[in-house]
Amino acid sequence: MKRKKIFIVTIFAAAAIGCALYFSGVLTPKTTDTDEADEVVAVKPVGPAFNADSAYAYAARQCDFGPRVMNSDAHDRCATWIVSKFRSLGCTVEEQKTTVTGYDGTALRCNNIIAHVNPQATTRILLCAHYDSRPWADNDPDSLNWHKPVMAANDGASGIAVMLEIARLLKAKPLPNIGVDLVCFDAEDWGTPQWAGVADKEDTWALGAQYWAAHVPEGYGPRYGILLDMVGGEGSRFYQEVMSKQYAPAIVKKVWRAAAQCGMSTFFPKDEGGAITDDHIPVNQIAHIPTIDIIPYFPDCQQSSFGPTWHTVSDTMDHIDKQVLKAVGQTIVQVLYSEK
Ligand SMILES: [Zn+2]
Repeated sequence: MKRKKIFIVTIFAAAAIGCALYFSGVLTPKTTDTDEADEVVAVKPVGPAFNADSAYAYAARQCDFGPRVMNSDAHDRCATWIVSKFRSLGCTVEEQKTTVTGYDGTALRCNNIIAHVNPQATTRILLCAHYDSRPWADNDPDSLNWHKPVMAANDGASGIAVMLEIARLLKAKPLPNIGVDLVCFDAEDWGTPQWAGVADKEDTWALGAQYWAAHVPEGYGPRYGILLDMVGGEGSRFYQEVMSKQYAPAIVKKVWRAAAQCGMSTFFPKDEGGAITDDHIPVNQIAHIPTIDIIPYFPDCQQSSFGPTWHTVSDTMDHIDKQVLKAVGQTIVQVLYSEK
């Protein structure tokens, strides 16, 4: 994924307006969202306990294949493992295979993996994440690493790991009236590298999600979608992402409230994060499913506002924090088991 350029504009515009209003006396210095600030949410957890050890093991298993870069053997073997794992957890699984084109014209064998829990249920929720690894650590502090692949423990494996653990919990404690679709997007992270010397184009990212969104079956309409991207990195805090607030404000509110209800509000500040080009953009724009992105924001990180390991060779299991997996996973449990 990639930060949208509009973010810069948004910040400067907001800062400029904020300063103007502040100095004109219209605004008082306040950091929280006004209509949310006074909302007190009682801790009232529902659903089973999310097992972070299990999720951690699912992420480690993906990394054991090596970096899962497009057109590689490790990628294909990991895809086979993901399919068999979801099947073993009782899901009905489809593979949506196609060829997509990378920023430089490279043909990429793309395989979106779609797992259905309770496929007969008409009320459905979409969860999604990507499983491919970025082929280039182009944001690494050491330029010697810029052409090396990313292990993608966080930027890929963590989201799939949380979805697998959710599938395991849904098997153990079914939700009879709710169906859940767990979509593992491919080819998210083949977007234009920083060293390419050509302008980055938004549509070079999220290639698998673009294809999936353009081919959703007739009549498919989940209530909403939640994208999980980089949900295990140490030090992560999940601010409200700008495009999610634009496309699916009610879902942002629902998920952040759920985080508070299950005692995870520290990990989910109600302040605004960046505007991100990620798999949720085509899901919103092409498939018209209101979908949010749970993605970390590090306001003070010099290396990247996605965190110190983003698109570096340090995105390994050493920097995965089970407490972060737990915070996100338990929040998803809270959301799903609150559905009627
Ligand atoms: Zn990435």
